[in-house]
Amino acid sequence: MTFAAKGFETKYGNNIAVDVLNGFTDYVLITQPEPWALVQNSVINKPREIVLAGELSPEYLNNLANSMPKTTIVGLGGGSAMDTAKWIHWRRDLPLFQIPSLPSVDACFTRMSALRDKGGVRYEGDSVPEMVYVDFELFRSAPRPMVTSGIGDVLSCHTAWFDWKFAAANGQDEFGWTEEMPNVSLTYLEELYLCAPGINEMTDDGLRRLMELLRDIGWRCHEFKHARFEEGSEHFFAYAFEEVTGRTILHGELVTMGTLLMSYFQGNDYERVKDIVLRAGTRHTLEELKISEKELIDSVRQLASYTREQKHWYSHAMFLDLKNVDDNKILELINF
Ligand SMILES: [Zn+2]
Repeated sequence: MTFAAKGFETKYGNNIAVDVLNGFTDYVLITQPEPWALVQNSVINKPREIVLAGELSPEYLNNLANSMPKTTIVGLGGGSAMDTAKWIHWRRDLPLFQIPSLPSVDACFTRMSALRDKGGVRYEGDSVPEMVYVDFELFRSAPRPMVTSGIGDVLSCHTAWFDWKFAAANGQDEFGWTEEMPNVSLTYLEELYLCAPGINEMTDDGLRRLMELLRDIGWRCHEFKHARFEEGSEHFFAYAFEEVTGRTILHGELVTMGTLLMSYFQGNDYERVKDIVLRAGTRHTLEELKISEKELIDSVRQLASYTREQKHWYSHAMFLDLKNVDDNKILELINF
């Protein structure tokens, strides 16, 4: 059975971004330097104003929204461009169109904006674009890891549902677990496995299928009103890594690393995760990711206490017992 996604209206194609931009009567463009540089020379119909996205504090975004003319808002770029455009649309009720330039995040398919507030991330808003335009050529112009890391927030479903089941089995489920729930995640993972080589080679088919997965996940987050099916121990590892090291790396790669580690510690088909990562060509070794052995080991060893302290959802990460696991074993899970 082919995978059929639900979610925002979406059009796919090659080199469609320029035509889309030239087709608006009047618009403000929310973008970033790299994607704009790619299309700038071919866009005859220049935007009335160009806003470079980056700052995501609510104060900044509210001021920006208030200063916008009454016109169409177009987002072109990665997560911050999508999130900024969504916020303006939501605050001002202006028509919104999104042109993602990377498949590394699902921001173009989710309703809320990820705000940076008081040192943390907070999700707010409710935006639905008129259309999401996915231009494969934009993706192919991006650095390769920005594309192959796109599997992270789909792969995370592998460990997330396992945690959810674990929580339900221990009377700690707040989200209405049913025995049907794994089917959702397993369907995503099967489709990801199948399209992974196409992601690796950045074919139209591979990229479209990855985006369709992200589209459906975005839709389901809204439908379920939670992200329990795609967020668990692997994301908690990512947050612990950021806390322990005081820095971050590409979200999709960090979550991929978390899924590899936690699938093993959950006793949940680590080999399958490894297979998908290899098929998609996603970077995962410490050398590729420029992470030191100490950063990885410290993050894993502090995960259980960190996730309890942060009161994350009940998960395997909370009970991670590493007394009999030596550092080499942890390294082996990543360095293959
Ligand atoms: Zn994520």
